Amino acid sequence: MKALELVGPSTFKVVDKALPEVSASDVLIEVKACGICGSDIHGMDGSSGRRIPPVVMGHEASGVIVQVGSDVSDLSVGDRVTFDSTVFCNDCQYCNQGRVNLCDNRQVMGVSCDEFHRDGAFSQHVACPAHICHRLPEGLSFEEAAFAEPVGVAVHAVNRSKVKQGDTAVVIGSGLIGLLVIQALKWKGCSQIIAIDLDDSRLTLAKQLGATDTFNSKQHDAVNSVIDLTDGGADHAFEVVGASVTVGMAVDCVRKGASVTLVGNLSPEVTMPLQKVVTRELTLFGSCAINGEYPEALSAIAQGHIQVRPLITAQVNIDDAPDWFAKLKAADQPYLKVLVCPE
Ligand SMILES: [Zn+2]
Ligand SMILES: [Zn+2]
Repeated sequence: MKALELVGPSTFKVVDKALPEVSASDVLIEVKACGICGSDIHGMDGSSGRRIPPVVMGHEASGVIVQVGSDVSDLSVGDRVTFDSTVFCNDCQYCNQGRVNLCDNRQVMGVSCDEFHRDGAFSQHVACPAHICHRLPEGLSFEEAAFAEPVGVAVHAVNRSKVKQGDTAVVIGSGLIGLLVIQALKWKGCSQIIAIDLDDSRLTLAKQLGATDTFNSKQHDAVNSVIDLTDGGADHAFEVVGASVTVGMAVDCVRKGASVTLVGNLSPEVTMPLQKVVTRELTLFGSCAINGEYPEALSAIAQGHIQVRPLITAQVNIDDAPDWFAKLKAADQPYLKVLVCPE
């Protein structure tokens, strides 16, 4: 099979590999589409320690099952599926509590680090455990289904914050995940959704996809604008960047007793306006990956509550993918999602 292998820091090779081994509890999937994630771009130079070469990356995929292991009874050849980026064990204390994204034995598809190595889906075929697969709703295209993972990340973040019908929210960062958080908030009934970013084209898209108001924080005092618009501060803030300035902004944009959900994790450490959090009794939520939101994410896409087509920057084959990794790394344009379609 043809695969895109990361062979050195930010260096790719299109290789011919043997089909992956399929254990008794695995399925083999013929990949139809796989999204390039920000974590692939940030990690491919080796700096995150999560993409140690050689590795085939790719954890946002859809495809068709072409082989099932001998113990697999609930999936069949021909099923159209996506899979959880998290490989959870179903056996540890966190899995038993239903928090599989916190699994003690957590592995991630398309990640290679000191503890484990799992080839992902920038490849014609990928093997994964059957228990992390989800069947696609009828009629949902493979391209849209490849968004189940980032949409799941957004829905999980919104679920963490316990948003209610009629609540107000501010979303800081209108990149791919921010634009999905905005749509998830609209879907869950938020009455006012304010998007903040530094790029006008992203803010235009944010408005098309459900933001009621947008502010470019380069040109506006975004915090005071949010406070005015929401009569004293939003009920919820979502920080989808992961830096000190934007975390501070999220805290400043909410009312007393509000929630701040931290999704972005670009910087390992940020400064925190401690007294504003303590004296205003804010609730901070960390949000990581997906905890069972795949069916919800897939149906939101299939029913059009969350639109992913406007977020596709390019659809490319395996041979053209290395150029796109370089373009995404250079980040000279406000790119959103690039899908690698192996055929
Ligand atoms: Zn990802
Ligand atoms: Zn576990």
